[in-house]
Amino acid sequence: MGVLRDEVSGRLRAAGCVFAEDEAELLLGEAGDDPVRLERMLAARVSGLPLEQVLGWAWFRGVRIAVAPGVFVPRRRTEHLVELAVDGIGSSAVVVDVCCGSGAVAAAVHAERPDAVVWACDVDERATACAELNLPGGHVVTGDLFAPLPRELAGRVRVITANAPYVPSDAVALMPPEARDHEPRTALDGGADGLSVQARVIAQAPSWLGPGGVLLVETSREQADRTACLMSAAGLEARVSRCDELDATVVLGR
Ligand code: GLN
Repeated sequence: MGVLRDEVSGRLRAAGCVFAEDEAELLLGEAGDDPVRLERMLAARVSGLPLEQVLGWAWFRGVRIAVAPGVFVPRRRTEHLVELAVDGIGSSAVVVDVCCGSGAVAAAVHAERPDAVVWACDVDERATACAELNLPGGHVVTGDLFAPLPRELAGRVRVITANAPYVPSDAVALMPPEARDHEPRTALDGGADGLSVQARVIAQAPSWLGPGGVLLVETSREQADRTACLMSAAGLEARVSRCDELDATVVLGR
């Protein structure tokens, strides 16, 4: 076993993986006694796929989230969105996560607030296929932003979360190759100014929010003021919340 571990970590290190030993451990654990599966995973990782897509899962706020090739990998920083979403919501609150990707945010909210009625939507079917695995006790729908939600939810939602794509188009090319080459562009590219999808989320959100409802939008530190301006223009009172430990910025609108 030690020889195999050294061989696996050696190949990972040669491919430029910084945490080769840790990754070798995870890949060996996931492959179990299946050498064909190990070889397939190793080849995928060496070719540049994100580790989580190769393993098929990622940890996110203590929840094991199913992830697949072609699906955005949940980021640690997005845990701040969950922290704000679960804050102060009572039982049976309706929570909607748009641009849900793997459904990590919705699944983590549901894990912490099992009584909440959680909806997750994404335009990408590969993403919603993962989200269905991750949110067995919630509702997953496929379509553009709020469009696939049942109309009866309009005016009744307590919390809307959105980690919509917010990277300016020009900056996508500068992202690490794992993200740039193996995550869907639709999950990253926020148009010329990075705000085009966020702007649509923010414009549509008020008609879904109920009394006391809150919209939570992850954004970048640099764009936070502009995200807040979009919220004000939509009639929401905006506040920026930063979590330095996670390098996270979320704009809240009420
Ligand atoms: N900068 C973010 C990341 O890669 C992009 C996430 C997004 O656009 N929603 O973590």
